[in-house]
Amino acid sequence: MNNKVILVVLDGLNHQVAHDCMGYLNALIEQDRATLYPVISELPSMSRPLYECLLTGVTPAKSGIVNNDIVRLSHHSSVFSLAKQASLTTAAAAYHWMSELYNIAPYNAVRDRFTDDPSLNIQHGCFYHMDHYPDEMVFLDAENLRQQHNPDFLLIHPMNIDDAGHKFGLDSSQYRNTARGADIILSNYVDVWLDAGYQILITSDHGMNNDRSHGGILPEERAVPLFVIGDSFSHQPTVMQQTELCGNVCQLLGLVDHGKAYNSALLNKQPEFIRQQPCNTSIKTSASTNTNNQAEKSENSL
Ligand SMILES: [Zn+2]
Repeated sequence: MNNKVILVVLDGLNHQVAHDCMGYLNALIEQDRATLYPVISELPSMSRPLYECLLTGVTPAKSGIVNNDIVRLSHHSSVFSLAKQASLTTAAAAYHWMSELYNIAPYNAVRDRFTDDPSLNIQHGCFYHMDHYPDEMVFLDAENLRQQHNPDFLLIHPMNIDDAGHKFGLDSSQYRNTARGADIILSNYVDVWLDAGYQILITSDHGMNNDRSHGGILPEERAVPLFVIGDSFSHQPTVMQQTELCGNVCQLLGLVDHGKAYNSALLNKQPEFIRQQPCNTSIKTSASTNTNNQAEKSENSL
C-alpha cells in the first residue's frame, strides 16, 4: 500500500457518544463507506500518554510518558519520524503537546505555533495551547496545511470535546453536542479528502467520566471509537488494539521495516499488493496481533 493518510484524533471522545451522536459518520456506515470499531484505551486514560501510544504504538508504562506533566521528546520512533525517514511529507494541526513529543520541548508558542521545517518530524505544523481553541479553527488550520503542503500524513487533533467533558461531564448535553459539532465539521471535509486520495482514520485518545475527568479504568474512560473510511480498509469485523493504530498507519503509508505491531485484518489486501508478493509465498501476516480476529460485531463488544 502507498496511500496518503489523515488521522483525526477527537480528544476525549467516548465510544458510545460517538456511536450515538455522530450522524454523518453513521450515514457513511449505513452506506458501507465507513466502519466503526470500538477500541479500549491503554492506561492511564490520559492525553499525553495516549498521544504517545497512538503515534508510536508504545504503551505509557513502556514509553515513560505516564502522565500529562512529562514534558520531553518521545524516545521512540513515531509515524512522523518514520514517514520523514521515508522522504514522505508530514503535517499536523494539533495541541502543542504533539509538538513537544515529536518536534521541540518545551513548547514556545511564539517560536512553534507555526512550524515549517523539513528537518523536524512534524514538518508543517499549526499548534495551539488553549483547550477552548475552536475545533472549527483546528480543521481550517489542517485544511490549510493540506492544501499548502500536500502531506502524505496529516494529523488533525481538536480539543473541544475533551474540554466540554471537563466542564460538564460525560452525561451532559454540552459534551454530546460538542461531539455532534465535530461530526458536522467532518461532513464538510471527508469527501474532499477522499477525492484527494487520502485514507481516513477518526479516533480518540481516551473517553470521559461523570466526574468531569478521566485517567482510570472505568469503561466510559477507556472506550473510544475508531472510524475508518477509504478503500484500503477491509471494513470487516476485527478487534483493534490502540497500540496497533500506529503500525496500521505505517502500513497504509507504505512504510517498510517500521517494526510496529499492526492489525492486518483492518486493511484491505489490494490486488496489486498481492501481485507484488513472490510466487508461492503467502502474504506475511505475522506482524498482526489479531490475524485470526474474534469476528465480533463491533457494536456488541462493549
Ligand atoms: Zn482531558
